[in-house]
Amino acid sequence: MHGVRPLIPARSCGPCRACCVVYDIDDAPVHKNAQVACPHHTGAGCGIYETRPQTCRTFFCQWRYDPILAEEWRPDLSGVVGTTEPVDAGAANGHAITLVVFGDHAVILDDGFAIYVATMLDRGYEALLRIPRGVGRVMPQAKLSLFTAEGLSAGDLGLVKQGIAQAYQALMAHPAPLAAEHGA
Ligand code: SF4
Ligand code: SF4
Repeated sequence: MHGVRPLIPARSCGPCRACCVVYDIDDAPVHKNAQVACPHHTGAGCGIYETRPQTCRTFFCQWRYDPILAEEWRPDLSGVVGTTEPVDAGAANGHAITLVVFGDHAVILDDGFAIYVATMLDRGYEALLRIPRGVGRVMPQAKLSLFTAEGLSAGDLGLVKQGIAQAYQALMAHPAPLAAEHGA
């Protein structure tokens, strides 16, 4: 199910450039830390589009794939960017959705955020919450399956949200070491 996934045909990135800021990139000619705008972004798009690295050519966030994420969940509008990736253990389908909350942290308490987490767990994913902790710092992550288990088994959205809030608090209490440097 995770081979080549179709993008949603009528959906485009528009003015969003979240992925050009949020992630670290170490793929020539781009070497940058997480939480730093790529120096090649002009403000209106990629200034090296024809020669951009392979990392950029193949990357699309979950919002570009997943129709249950409505327009308002576009990363620049919501402050949340999601990706799926393989994980060794803990997910029925062998993958996790990683949700990086780079904007207003209040979104974590949104009903829609909790419903999406519950939906992805129900689909067999692990759900990982990551909060950027400063330029070049490792983003600690929390397994939301652990924090939301009680709420999910009770079918109680309020308890699910409470679990997500506890995961957030645990992350914010976690020291964030410096990551490997990738230039700017
Ligand atoms: S984060 Fe998603 S919507 Fe935004 S520019 Fe990147 S791929 Fe496009
Ligand atoms: S090279 Fe272009 S697409 Fe890649 S991060 Fe920089 S601005 Fe974005």
